[in-house]
Parts: sequence; structure tokens; C-alpha cells
Amino acid sequence: MIKSLAVLGSTGSIGTQALEVAQMHSMKIEALTANSRTDILENQIRKFNPKMAAVADEKAAADLKTRVADTSTKVLSGADGVKECASCGAEAVLNSIVGIAGLAPTLAAIEAGSTIALANKETLVTGGRIVIDAAARKGVSILPVDSEHSAIFQSLQGCRDKKQVKRLILTASGGPFFGRRKEELVNVTVEQALKHPNWSMGAKITIDSATMMNKGLELIEAAWLFSMPADKIDILVHRQSVIHSLVEYEDNSVIAQLGVPDMRIPIQYALTYPDRFESPVKQLDLAEFATLTFEKPDYETFSCINLCRRAFEKGGLYPAAVNAANEKANELFRQGKIKFMDISYAVGEALENAESKDDFSLEDVFEIDRKIRFDTERLLK
Ligand code: NDP
Ligand code: MG
Repeated sequence: MIKSLAVLGSTGSIGTQALEVAQMHSMKIEALTANSRTDILENQIRKFNPKMAAVADEKAAADLKTRVADTSTKVLSGADGVKECASCGAEAVLNSIVGIAGLAPTLAAIEAGSTIALANKETLVTGGRIVIDAAARKGVSILPVDSEHSAIFQSLQGCRDKKQVKRLILTASGGPFFGRRKEELVNVTVEQALKHPNWSMGAKITIDSATMMNKGLELIEAAWLFSMPADKIDILVHRQSVIHSLVEYEDNSVIAQLGVPDMRIPIQYALTYPDRFESPVKQLDLAEFATLTFEKPDYETFSCINLCRRAFEKGGLYPAAVNAANEKANELFRQGKIKFMDISYAVGEALENAESKDDFSLEDVFEIDRKIRFDTERLLK
């Protein structure tokens, strides 16, 4: 079990649950970061007394600095401040920032040699090869926090040769709109889209679950994490979110990980790997569920899944492009400025029109991110 930890995005849904797990196992918190919610961050600083804390928004950072002037925590600001926290040298850095804003901090933590507990899926979607290569060069492990990837990681324990794996099966809850056709989704509201059947999560990923873009992003994340081609990764709709994902082996034996839908299990496993300890999570009583159901996704209505699959297969900057279109469109939808189906439309347009290259740098990733966000906003106006 790791003893010292930095939590990036500590004020969010995953961040606050990670701190709960860390507290239960007496881990020392070295650094905390947020974007702007300084009230929550102030409480966390007083409770965990980290060496440093960063707030991405400059004005909010100045406010926090005044509020915690009586503590020994050094307050940093801006994206550079967040990166400095990522480089604090903690044994592990848990990255639960939302969006591509998490990419540079993951790379900074890798450079500092910390183990990465990765919730920020956009890191691997946008940075893919760059991140995997950096981790290999530094000998750093990237341990998944995302529940599906944690389930696959757990189901792969004991697998001595990846060649024996036939298929990874990512389960999907299907989100609030599963079973509805395209025409029935034209006028759904933000409020309806934010009502996830099984999980309580941050707003961006909750909308991603409603469009099922989340599963597309997870497919790309799984491909990088487990070095699997996209055609060996399947999606299975499982409404109850009890089976968190499965691995099918050469002999058609299937190993899965089950548990109640509670992120504190995958968070804790990433921090205590390869050991297991008591957790704050409720026992799974399968009899309570009576039936577990499985269905194929409706790829036509939830087109984002295959748009992501195609982006990964095309490679280059395409995954970063579809991610950028989604981040922008997701935000515009939450602001009430566009309709629900505009999100998948924007993702499709980005895949169609992005200018990619095979050999690219981190700067190219940020450049395509800026460009596609700009184009998406113009497209949807
Ligand atoms: P939240 O929106 O709840 O939290 C996001 C965190 O990131 C907050 O601390 C927020 O700060 C911070 N943040 C936002 N924007 C920036 C920025 N530009 N720079 C620095 N920090 C920023 O998200 P979740 O916890 O739901 O999700 C976090 C990540 O984990 C996402 O990538 C998501 O896909 C992934 N994930 C989440 C799951 C969940 O159950 N929630 C499950 C699996 C994966 P502030 O509070 O100040 O805004
Ligand atoms: Mg997930």
C-alpha cells in the first residue's frame, strides 16, 4: 500500500472519495489541487495539511491564499501550479482532474517518478502513445481507477501471457437514455441527461454516460492501458453495473470483477495494489439483485462509441480531436446552448474534418485540441 499521495482534482467526485480512502488507510497527503472550488479545498487543506495545494483559476487561487494564510500549506496557482503539485514526488499521484486539463499533470507526475492512479481518462485518450512511452521510459506504473479498467486489470491478475487474452469486454450501464431511439432523444433536457441510473459522478462524465461517449473514451483508454487493438475490445450493456468488466481468454473462460457500484473499490485497489484491505464499501449481495441483464449497445443511436473506435483505429491526432469536440459540445449542452444530439454530431464532424499526422508531439495535441474546440463552437452556433 502506498504511504504518500497527491490528489489532483481533489474537490471533485473521485477526488473526495479518494481522500476518504486515503484517510481510512492513514496515507499522508502531500498535495491537493482544484480548479476553482476553494471552499471545499480550504476544508481539505485544514483536514489533511498537505505540503502544497494549487488552484488552476488565478483569482480563486488568490482567494485561497488569503483563506489558508494561517496554515503551512504553500498555495500555487494556474496550470503550472497544478503541474508543480503533480511533481511533488509523492509515492503515488491520483489524477482525478476532468478533461484534457489532466494530461500535462499526468506527464509531470510520470517525470517525477510517482506511480499514477489514473481516473482522468482524457489523459490516455488524448496523450496515448506519449503517455505510455513516458511511463515506460521512467519505469512508472499507471494503475487504472476507472471502474471498468480496474475490473479488467483485476481480471488479468495471474495472466502470464497477454497472448492468451482473446477479448476485453467493457460493461456499460447504458446511461439514462438506454432503450430510446435517436428521434426520442432530440429534445431531452440537461436535467434528464444528468440523472444517471447507478452512479453519482461529476457533470461532464454524467453527460458522457448519457451520450455513451464515455464508453468510446473508455475503449480508447483500455486499448492503451492493456495494449490491445480496438477490435479485441467489445462493449456489453449491463444495466445494473454489478459486473464492472470482463476478460475472455483463449479457452473461452471468462473472468470478471463484481461489486456494488461504488468507485471507492477501484480507487482503493489502485492505491493498495497488489494487496487488498478492508474498504468503506458495502458487501455485494447478489440475491438483492435477483437478475443481471446483458444487451448489445444500440450503436446507431449512441454513435459516439464507434466514432471513438474509428478515431483510435485511424490513430494520430484523431482521438484528441474527437475528445476536444466532445468536451466543447458537452459543455455547450450543459450550458443549455445546444441540443443533446448535437454532441454526437460534433464528434462525428471532428473525426471527419480533423487534420491529423502520424508522428506528433504534445504541442500538436494541445494545438488540435484548441482548433477543434474553436471549430466545434462555430459549427454548433
Ligand atoms: P468532477 O467534475 O467531480 O471533478 C473534477 C475535478 O477537476 C475537480 O476537482 C475540479 O476542480 C478539477 N478541475 C476541473 N477543471 C480543471 C482544470 N481546468 N484544471 C485543473 N483542475 C480542474 O469530475 P469527476 O470526479 O466525476 O471525474 C474526474 C475524472 O475521472 C474525469 O476524467 C472522469 O471521466 C473520470 N472518472 C470519473 C468517475 C466518477 O465516478 N466520477 C468514474 C470514472 C472515471 P473544481 O472542483 O474546483 O471545479
Ligand atoms: Mg468507467
